[in-house]
Amino acid sequence: MTTTEADTALGNVVEIHNPADGSVVGTVPEMSADQVAELAARLREAQPAWEALTPQARAQHLRNWLNWIVDNQERIFGLVHREAGKSWGDAQIELLVCMEVINYYTKHGAEFLADESRTPHTPASLTKNLRIRYRPYQLVGVITPWNYPVGMPMMDIPGALMAGAAVLSKPSEVTPLAWAEIVRGWNEEIGAPPVLACATGRGDTGRAVVDVVDMVQFTGSTATGRRIGMRCAERLIPASLELGGKDAMIVLSDAPMERTIRGAIWGGLFNAGQSCIAVERLYVEASVYDEFVDRLVAEVKTLRQGHDPQGGFSTEFGAMATESQLEIVERHVADALAKGARVLTGGKRADKGLFYPPTVLVDVDHTMACMREETFGPLLPIMKVRDEHEAISLANDSDYGLGASVWTASKDRGERVGMRLEAGGVDVNNVLMHVFQFPLPMGGWKSSGLGYRFGGPNGIRKYCRQQAFVTERVHLDNETHWYPYSLTKGRITAAVLRLMEMHDWRRRLGLAPRKRR
Ligand code: NAD
Repeated sequence: MTTTEADTALGNVVEIHNPADGSVVGTVPEMSADQVAELAARLREAQPAWEALTPQARAQHLRNWLNWIVDNQERIFGLVHREAGKSWGDAQIELLVCMEVINYYTKHGAEFLADESRTPHTPASLTKNLRIRYRPYQLVGVITPWNYPVGMPMMDIPGALMAGAAVLSKPSEVTPLAWAEIVRGWNEEIGAPPVLACATGRGDTGRAVVDVVDMVQFTGSTATGRRIGMRCAERLIPASLELGGKDAMIVLSDAPMERTIRGAIWGGLFNAGQSCIAVERLYVEASVYDEFVDRLVAEVKTLRQGHDPQGGFSTEFGAMATESQLEIVERHVADALAKGARVLTGGKRADKGLFYPPTVLVDVDHTMACMREETFGPLLPIMKVRDEHEAISLANDSDYGLGASVWTASKDRGERVGMRLEAGGVDVNNVLMHVFQFPLPMGGWKSSGLGYRFGGPNGIRKYCRQQAFVTERVHLDNETHWYPYSLTKGRITAAVLRLMEMHDWRRRLGLAPRKRR
């Protein structure tokens, strides 16, 4: 994926800046709809041979890819570090995602793709062998956001490739460099078939991807997801949508305090709060509210923010990825302050670079944007609640329903409260954790999504069409319901049908119904 001189001359390039210091990290072509269509045609040409490989052979290519990524991690994750302005520690998590997802799907691919036998439901079909076969969509489009430039596409693409589909990926225009390099690795370094491509560009390129694929896996904002869902409906192709969130954290009176505070900090501030499943609002029972807030604020003040050097691990988290994302955070803080909230730490952007400090807000309520809209930044707005009932009702008072967490020493309370939350994933005494359990589904409820990522077999089968496959156990020259019809055949068929399908002897034997008195 290189920018050609022609692209540059025509101005068809996207320049990528490090948000920590504004430096140029690289450029990628802004691909037109024609270029996207060309990529799609090449992928479609290569796909049948890919599907014809055994799952084990496909798995081997994916493992070779993982080896190559690990061998080149300094270069690849150096790009992530710079294009997203992350801390080095935050960038490393994305390598973990590559390892975990590729290993999970390569280990289970053959099992998840195996035909499934079914028993015929009626004796009339006992001469048939019934199977469900999983046949991939030929071309899957995977469109991703900027918050995890490698982690996001890596969550979906191994499953789609294992299914036997070809994949046209479209990384965010804000952070396309590391992903484009990983796709280059697939195509140029490991001898894999050309069934993976990268379309770079802005929203129009994404639109062009949606127009040429057979299924879309999208991760991004609710607004874009809705537009993509509508276009997919027009094209009659499926879309799986992983969208925005406003995850609630409920701290009950018996919460293990040290762990809860550390969980709140990591869950809310990891990756500068730019995670769909970040803790975005906290509800704390009144009896522990003061202790929780005091200790949390003291701990937040010790965090180091900045763009540490590559390999440094010397700051916790880095910059916001874009100016517009930072402006959302500023707007939410200003709105909260105007409506009576207080900032206990942070609350003002840094003078240089797109840095916003970790910020704790109290005296917040549901009239404020910081409690209702997705912030996607390092804010921890905390609300005092009377009891668990109030916490549940406030947590559910949201358009979003991606994830939530409950903190308590009581197993019963964790179960009881968790069961009442309107969210696709619930962690008890943990944060973000349900997302990395690949045997479980990950999906947003309400405006947070449509469909599920992962979920054991579903993580591969969602990229497949189910084929009902019927074969004959015995050879018959004719079937009773085929032509020609005759009176004798008709009577026999009706008698046999009645005998097999009816539930009382009178009807089974075709006797006249009893007269009603
Ligand atoms: P975005 O919706 O602006 O963009 C996402 C991708 O869609 C980009 O690659 C963009 O170029 C492309 N795009 C834009 N318009 C398009 C169109 N009309 N057709 C096709 N593609 C189009 O999102 P963003 O700002 O990059 O990312 C932040 C959002 O992502 C947040 O809302 C966050 O919650 C969400 N997110 C969700 C999850 C999840 O799993 N639920 C994970 C990470 C991020």
